[in-house]
Amino acid sequence: MLSARNTIRSARLYSTASKTLRIGLIPGDGIGREVIPTGRQILEAVSSKHGLKFEFVELQAGFEHFKKTGTALPDETVEILKKETDGALFGAVSSPTTKVAGYSSPIVALRKKLGLYANVRPVKSVEGVGRPVDMVIVRENTEDLYVKEEKLIENPDGTKTAEAIKRISEYASKRIGKIALDIALQRQAQRDLGAASLHKSPIVTITHKSNVLSVSDGLFRETIRNFYNANQDKYSSISLQEQIVDSMVYRMFREPEIFDVVVAPNLYGDILSDGAAALVGSLGVVPSANVGDDYVIGEPCHGSAPDIEGKGIANPIATIRSTALMLEFMGHAEPAADIYTAVDANLKEDAIKTPDLGGKSSTQEVVADIIRRL
Ligand code: ATP
Repeated sequence: MLSARNTIRSARLYSTASKTLRIGLIPGDGIGREVIPTGRQILEAVSSKHGLKFEFVELQAGFEHFKKTGTALPDETVEILKKETDGALFGAVSSPTTKVAGYSSPIVALRKKLGLYANVRPVKSVEGVGRPVDMVIVRENTEDLYVKEEKLIENPDGTKTAEAIKRISEYASKRIGKIALDIALQRQAQRDLGAASLHKSPIVTITHKSNVLSVSDGLFRETIRNFYNANQDKYSSISLQEQIVDSMVYRMFREPEIFDVVVAPNLYGDILSDGAAALVGSLGVVPSANVGDDYVIGEPCHGSAPDIEGKGIANPIATIRSTALMLEFMGHAEPAADIYTAVDANLKEDAIKTPDLGGKSSTQEVVADIIRRL
């Protein structure tokens, strides 16, 4: 299996030697079943130019699967991903509106089982279309308030008090800081390969609230700073900046163009990454990757979109960009750059677009247009 940790570092050394990559495809529910095949089509389209070969393995997960079998994430899916694949694409899962006994989100479970501690969400507008945005939110995915250690205390006066643990460790802060810094270098490498960007040199912005939470957020901030300072041989080209989370939200909406890579603890990262997605119009164009040291799963940010399911009009761009992101983390920067460029060219032209972007085209017409441009 390829190592995401090592291949980010070695992406510039990517060689065009022939290599077969096995990719798990987990469509899940709703439009997940319509967009994940488009990721496969794109990989097949870039393979020969870049001397890559792909094999695909279709895997089950999701609410529909739960309704049929009583399990949302079969053990077999996890085992095959772990033992037989180099990376994966995950579509979407429907979220039941009321609590369903025995059901829990398969992607949350997959992140845990595969050690995918970083959620990476690039948010990018296309030159001349809407507001200029070109940032990546890197969200720590394993701790903070989401350790879910809550308790309810009965007070002597009969009222209740709720408490929740916010856990920040040096270990998790260091590894998320490292991946954010590596992504900043990787983005610079993409720019060096000709990818269009608002930024000329890499910037990483640590987001925190250490003016109030000086111990927990203070540790997050200090750990990343210390790691950056201790590794100047590698990271000296990066400008490391900071932003308190409330002013981060303000500035992100006022002047999104100034941010390159933003790294945040789990809760702030969760909020910021959805907020950032709102800057570029449709959920249908925003990709993400769930990244660990040894594995990556590309995942469009949107859900299963039951309102458009089966109509053939789901925007495939979030999935296609997630496919490029997956390739990037697997160390294949050049095909990823080609995919980004082809998607940007499609978006710029304003001709072949799905209805969420104001167009009249189908999912497959958009895919065909992007493949034509590759
Ligand atoms: P879920 O329950 O799975 O979260 P949802 O409908 O609540 O589904 P999303 O699937 O994220 O949430 O959809 C929100 C809105 O965005 C819907 O109107 C949906 O049609 C639209 N949308 C989401 N993804 C796409 C896409 N790829 N292409 C076009 N429209 C999309």
